[in-house]
Amino acid sequence: MVSQVLPQVRLLRQCKILDRNEIMSALILDGTKIAQQIRGEVSAEVKTLAAAGIRPGLAVLLVGHVPASEIYVRGKVKACEEVGIYSEKVTPPESVTTGELLRLIEDLNRREEIDGILVQLPLPAQVDSKKVLLAVDSAKDVDGFHPMNVGFLSTQRPGLVPCTPAGVMEILKRSNIPVAGSEAVVVGRSDIVGKPAAMLLTNANATVTVCHSRTRDLPAVCRRADILVAAIGRAGMITRDFVKPGATVIDVGMNTVTDPAELQRFFSGNGKREETFRKKGSTLIGDVHPEVAEIAGALTPVPGGVGPLTIAMLMYNTVKAAKMRRGSRVPELSRV
Ligand code: NAP
Repeated sequence: MVSQVLPQVRLLRQCKILDRNEIMSALILDGTKIAQQIRGEVSAEVKTLAAAGIRPGLAVLLVGHVPASEIYVRGKVKACEEVGIYSEKVTPPESVTTGELLRLIEDLNRREEIDGILVQLPLPAQVDSKKVLLAVDSAKDVDGFHPMNVGFLSTQRPGLVPCTPAGVMEILKRSNIPVAGSEAVVVGRSDIVGKPAAMLLTNANATVTVCHSRTRDLPAVCRRADILVAAIGRAGMITRDFVKPGATVIDVGMNTVTDPAELQRFFSGNGKREETFRKKGSTLIGDVHPEVAEIAGALTPVPGGVGPLTIAMLMYNTVKAAKMRRGSRVPELSRV
């Protein structure tokens, strides 16, 4: 797969007048466009593999009927179709046991035509989720959650990297945001986003601070950042007080606003948001307050920022797994 920096990535410019009559602008980093580029590259790679008689395959394990999970899985299956990856949905009932899931995973581990296995979370309460995730063959672990892949990432060996943090790195790289030597602050330390994002930034030679709910004076720590990654799960928590002027702010958060008062607090005077809210009864907001656009140098929007990258990187990981399992070298997309 070609690893390239595309300077022509569309950066929409938002201009605001600040107190000192100075025009400050945050570049809005268009994740949808970057995700399309990556999908295009994956699709070309799938065609090359097809010529060699290989069709990468992804199996998605979806237990029961959790509406949000069903929507996510539909999106993943559709993305597979679009790039030419074979996909298969395995749908055990809500009452499934840990043992039954382990047997399904063993079967998928054995099947040659399946390169990637994704267990859609959350699993029902009676299931031992950790045991199930650990059972996935690490060579097929396209989510990058298996301890083996966590170890590969921390020791800078080739492996499968969690999709959302890998997407964050692609946004930085393809938007020409310098990472090496920068001060990066990651708010959030989950295994899925915060920790791997911090590890990727460290591997890319940033100086990284990881913050969490026990961090003292969070705004002051965040203000040190040239690159601030918010992966918290709290609507609009990162206000302008957390941001150094000109910093790059990556908003991983996805929070649903359903309260009209909240809508007003975040999006007062934003006709497009009010329209969405009227139609759907909700709107999405990240962990970053919209006012940050007035002070940041660059900012990912929600929706349309990090979100679209997650599925694109899942497609990338499935092709990567297909190649690695067959002993082919895979250029890393996310070397910044
Ligand atoms: P998570 O597992 O709940 O972790 C949240 C992290 O934020 C924790 O480390 C927590 O600290 C920290 N935190 C919570 N409140 C805080 C506060 N007041 N001050 C400082 N730190 C605080 O969440 P996650 O799975 O990492 O997801 C984070 C966000 O990203 C969510 O909005 C999620 O929906 C979104 N997300 C988006 C995508 C995407 O594709 N765009 C993918 C995955 C997740 P402690 O460790 O101390 O509790």
